[in-house]
Amino acid sequence: MNPVQYGEACQALVDTFNALECDLKDHNYWGDDAINAIRAEIKDHYIAEQNRRCCYCGREYPTKNKAVWDGEHIIAKSAAPQFMFEPRNLAASCKDCNIAKGEVEVRTNPKRKTFPDQSNHYKIVHPHFDNYHDHIRWYGDVVKPLSAKGAELVNMCKLWRFGVTKAGAEVAPPNTLVDGWIGVMMDPQADALSKEIAIEAYKAYVKTQPQKAAG
Ligand SMILES: [Zn+2]
Repeated sequence: MNPVQYGEACQALVDTFNALECDLKDHNYWGDDAINAIRAEIKDHYIAEQNRRCCYCGREYPTKNKAVWDGEHIIAKSAAPQFMFEPRNLAASCKDCNIAKGEVEVRTNPKRKTFPDQSNHYKIVHPHFDNYHDHIRWYGDVVKPLSAKGAELVNMCKLWRFGVTKAGAEVAPPNTLVDGWIGVMMDPQADALSKEIAIEAYKAYVKTQPQKAAG
């Protein structure tokens, strides 16, 4: 993914912020009207660069509507305001993924001073440093993590929410077991016995969840 390149006016504002002493870098600046143009450049760039797909759930949202998209800080801006305008710390995510992810720490070493710019510096699949499809596979609305980073992302952004909603259970699964069962059920490579076990386990699980009212 190509990182955003700021226009001249926005770059000047970014440079001014980046030149501040570390303790003067306040993440609340992100909400300041003075940087409306920067936020717009970021969102427009990444929505287009990601083909209008959320960087975490991969869902296509064919709109630029602000009610749908968030400018996403992969390392939360509250945790590291010094990386607030770092192009490789930015992406576009849907509201649900952004809210689910919250301010959870994604770095393997949060004490590192310089910007973490390698895949192994992150616990989750990184929109800039990882290939999404190496870590996450979708079977329709059902997600299967293919790696530890994939599993971290599934949990952090609650990516099982699409499949669980379809299965009729309103409450999110409390653990990764459910994702595992769904993955096995949907996996064309899985053997028949594994599938049967996964189906029975999943059925038993769904029965324990509050069901949506019929109709
Ligand atoms: Zn999403």
